[in-house]
Amino acid sequence: MRRLLILAALLGGGVVAQTALPGVLTIRFLNVGQGDAVLITAPEGQGLLYDGGRSEKRMTELLGKYGVKSLAVVAASHGDADHITGLIPAVQMFKPKFFLNNGIAATTQTFGKLTAAVKTAGTQGLLAKDQVINLGSVKVTILPPPPGMPKTDQNLNSIGLLIEYGTFKALMTGDSESAETAAWLKAYPASTLGPINVYKSIHHGAKNGDNLAWLNAVRPTDVVIGVGPNNYGHPTSEALALYKSVNAAIYRTDLNGTVTVTVQPGGKYSLSAEKGTGTAPQAAPVPTAPAPTAPAPAAPPRLPPALPPSSPSGGVVYPNCAAVRAAGRAPLLVGQPGYSRKLDRDGDGRACE
Ligand SMILES: [Zn+2]
Repeated sequence: MRRLLILAALLGGGVVAQTALPGVLTIRFLNVGQGDAVLITAPEGQGLLYDGGRSEKRMTELLGKYGVKSLAVVAASHGDADHITGLIPAVQMFKPKFFLNNGIAATTQTFGKLTAAVKTAGTQGLLAKDQVINLGSVKVTILPPPPGMPKTDQNLNSIGLLIEYGTFKALMTGDSESAETAAWLKAYPASTLGPINVYKSIHHGAKNGDNLAWLNAVRPTDVVIGVGPNNYGHPTSEALALYKSVNAAIYRTDLNGTVTVTVQPGGKYSLSAEKGTGTAPQAAPVPTAPAPTAPAPAAPPRLPPALPPSSPSGGVVYPNCAAVRAAGRAPLLVGQPGYSRKLDRDGDGRACE
């Protein structure tokens, strides 16, 4: 077991969110569309926002909707726009004490805006390492990217958080891929990793995220997928089959809206969805009717039309986003000359945002 450092009582005082319920830990998997954002509020009121989704406007609305009055920590699992954009208003509004990050700068305007906001707010950068954050009485163990992950790959350098309160455990590991989860499996005893009560699906249910070896250690009871309309086919049938194979109930923010977990002292928890209920496996959505009581025939999830093939359009080819920005063309929208899937990491039809 690796040595754990303790941020002793660092987050113990002075920060009280009015949304805290006495004695209750609240974890909200926010409906931010295609992306991740998890709001964790300790029983004593300290708040931690793990990722912020892809929209500043949406995150601002959600922070208001859930009555957030302060944040002690914002954490970027990694530097992709569908995770960090919403952290910008969170930092600007609440000037959190810490910005937990993987130390790898993303070459995007969004990342630059976030780091500028962090600086202006006087927020302290906290590089992910083996460490425990005491968020009030909630134990937050950081799973830093294991050694040996290529620094050019944001996904493989995702930061994980293990949340513990009584016997309750939640785990979220950004957009990590098999190489990172395999290294974590070597670094942590299985008893550390699982069983997990509430688990965030890796990478919005992508094919290259969750895998059987990892899930056999994690052993999740409830899986929440942060997903919205996208052109990647997230969540994939492969990921959904994996969750089913380990008998997990599945919640999806695209179908269930924001999913809220409340944990009592001791660790008993309940999970509620803004709409609908999770299933194992999750039934396909029924767009107009209320949830049927009898099994309904499965319909494919509604997705926007597929993006064109990955070849750049319009005869213009940009090798990377730096070139797009140098040309003053960012963000490039699908269909515009030079747009390509390669430049649109999160597949939302806006490249180099
Ligand atoms: Zn992502």
